[in-house]
Amino acid sequence: MQNSEMQNSEEIWRLVDAKKESFIALSDRVWGMPELCYTEARSCAEHVAALEAEGFRVTRNVAGIPTAVMGEAGEGGPVIAILGEYDALPGLSQVSGLAEPRPAEANGNGHGCGHNLLGSASLLAATAVKDYLATHGLRGRVRYYGCPAEEGGAAKGFMVRAGAFKDVDIAISWHPASFSGVNEPESLANTRIDFTFTGRSSHAAAAPHLGRSALDAVELMNVGVNYMREHMPDGARVHYAMLDGGGVAPNVVQARAKVRYLIRAKDLVELNPLVQRVRKIADGAALMTETKVETRVISAVSNLLGNAPLEKLMHDNFMRLGPPDFDDLDRAVAAKFQATLTAEDITAAYRRHGLNVEPGKVLCDKIVPIETSGAGGVGSTDVGDVSWVVPTVQARGATCAIGTPFHSWQLTGQGKTSFAHKGLVHVAKVMAGTALDAIRDPGLIERARNDLEKRTGDAPYACPLPSEVGPALDMSKAA
Ligand SMILES: [Zn+2]
Repeated sequence: MQNSEMQNSEEIWRLVDAKKESFIALSDRVWGMPELCYTEARSCAEHVAALEAEGFRVTRNVAGIPTAVMGEAGEGGPVIAILGEYDALPGLSQVSGLAEPRPAEANGNGHGCGHNLLGSASLLAATAVKDYLATHGLRGRVRYYGCPAEEGGAAKGFMVRAGAFKDVDIAISWHPASFSGVNEPESLANTRIDFTFTGRSSHAAAAPHLGRSALDAVELMNVGVNYMREHMPDGARVHYAMLDGGGVAPNVVQARAKVRYLIRAKDLVELNPLVQRVRKIADGAALMTETKVETRVISAVSNLLGNAPLEKLMHDNFMRLGPPDFDDLDRAVAAKFQATLTAEDITAAYRRHGLNVEPGKVLCDKIVPIETSGAGGVGSTDVGDVSWVVPTVQARGATCAIGTPFHSWQLTGQGKTSFAHKGLVHVAKVMAGTALDAIRDPGLIERARNDLEKRTGDAPYACPLPSEVGPALDMSKAA
């Protein structure tokens, strides 16, 4: 049997195929309207329209966030959540299909993390499960959660805190990647904090002694944090970006300056003391410069928890389905993008998935074994917080030339290719199959719940967001 025929041998996969065209079109439209962190109004509206057209019961404004949406279908039974995203990144605009850097719009946004595919595939999977439940009169509910602001806003943490997942039995999601397989449940806890220093301006030549420089404070803070690096736990990460250097006139003592810190560690147990140390360094910088410092927590996410029964279930679905059905034309286009990558980019992609490098291979043609353990390249995801309250599993779906880094013009440029579309449909089948298997096997839901309880037994979920902090809906403007 041809791979393409095999990938239609189960009814749930045929239901995905039956509606794939409109969800590919949805992904392409969202690609064409790249919107940042909490400003995804048009992209969210597209997802709402698709949910309504498919007859889902739609809840808007989830957790008080205007660009978060939930659609539910089915009656009674277990509740399966399939999570999607649709936010883009600044500065990653790129002409579609072109394998050299050329923004479609100067300094424009772009889907450099493939979230146009992410949202569409999840919504397609939810739709196929809905159709299956309806056809067979099966009890069970499937929900699509449209989650905004994954890049920088970590909206899912606020959605968890608001109770959006409290009656969910299992959560399923995915992310575009070089290879297909179950996502290794490894991600760092993190928090973003803005430090705003306020001093006193003065003429930098005529009266420097009257000025107190907020810019000096930011520089001293950065120096202090850079000295702290040697003494951090293994795997911890600290990054910063200057949001406001105080102005453009060097003959003025800068009275205001702002730096955003992103602090990451293995889990919350390691993160929290590290954050306290960064805060102390900020206080020290203020003391040295006689300025004041104010802080604002922008986001915080927990590390991701795995779930062995769900990972096995999803892997079984991957193995039944086989790898995506890429053809020579797909490989020819992908090869052009791969040619723009460094050898290190490509090696890193294999290593991240615990695989040996296969020189000359352009697109994924296998399912990554579940027991492989990758090396390096660990980021963070706001799915982490969901995984602490609901048994959660994520897929990786091959949608790009092997080695394509996230947050790159190359990823934006591949977001509407035929192989990205095939990857979208392929991973939708995996997620729909996993959801359906879970609905049909109540024992599995219980095993998944037990697995979660075992992992959180010692330290139950504590939301990393301070209670007074709400979603930074103004963040795109503020930044
Ligand atoms: Zn992403």
